[in-house]
Amino acid sequence: MSHTASLSFEVFPPKKEEEFKNIFDFLREAAKLHPDFISCTYGAGGSRAGKTIEIASFIQKELGIDAIAHLTCVGFTKAELEKNCEALKAAGVNHVLALRGDRPQHMTDEQFNNREFFYATDLVRHLKAHTSLQISGACYPEKHFEAPNLEEDLTHLKEKVDAGVTSLVTQMFFDNACFYRFIELVRAKGIPVPIYAGIMPITTAKQLGTTVSLSGSSVPKELADLIATYGENKEDMRKAGIDYAVRQILDLREHGVDGIHIYSMNKLKTTTEICGLIS
Ligand code: FAD
Repeated sequence: MSHTASLSFEVFPPKKEEEFKNIFDFLREAAKLHPDFISCTYGAGGSRAGKTIEIASFIQKELGIDAIAHLTCVGFTKAELEKNCEALKAAGVNHVLALRGDRPQHMTDEQFNNREFFYATDLVRHLKAHTSLQISGACYPEKHFEAPNLEEDLTHLKEKVDAGVTSLVTQMFFDNACFYRFIELVRAKGIPVPIYAGIMPITTAKQLGTTVSLSGSSVPKELADLIATYGENKEDMRKAGIDYAVRQILDLREHGVDGIHIYSMNKLKTTTEICGLIS
């Protein structure tokens, strides 16, 4: 079956300076897979903001691929945000994923309670009023962990989109049925923008204990069983994880999803193999 789903990747700025060069090698190779866009995450405290902008600029200017720079607001003043927006402009990056972010450890209760931007929607409104940036946002098929229920989360998602978000990227999920239910509810709520399905290939057992548990995404029995069976064997686990992600993607495409967003974790071999198997 033919499909029109877009393909995109997410990368992150490596923490160690000596690993920083590798990200540009990854991006040069990933460009050959012809993604529609590549997004780059932003450290929660914002201490490495410059790195996100540097990477996004490379994607946009050197590779000629649409770049989305993630931008959080929870720890920022308006003046600091303005500085970041100036830097984005100077770097030729004109698209951001506007996020609230999680509370940085260094923030005191007083700072947190008096923060200038409470929610991503506040950031979106500010960017709309003061910049010409294109703005995307995040959404959560299994609801955001702070939201009392999905209905309330969706009400706030609608506010965020109405404030000026033109596309949404989902939190990772491993059960497509959750995603399909979510899309039905989102559309019923009158949210019309494209929604890119976030797919995280699970290639090591360790990932479940770290990334996945932090995301709050549920782990279907099939995936849990697969890790129980192959988790001890590095190469078998990688293959089984890739196979799971590929099956998820093919099913999503058959269901006419707007786009597939692969959380690449800067892993070239895994990303390339997945793209080869879904092309
Ligand atoms: P919001 O949209 O502000 O929502 C947060 C919570 O507030 C939700 O429960 C929502 O229902 C609630 N809410 C919203 N408005 C209101 C209101 N008016 N009244 C009451 N409640 C309200 N984090 C990083 O630090 N760096 C990154 O690069 C990064 N990239 C991400 C990319 C994606 C695709 C996703 C899904 C998440 C990413 N995150 C990143 C994590 C994100 O910062 C956290 O999940 C954060 O807790 C929420 O951010 P948000 O922008 O979704 O928040």
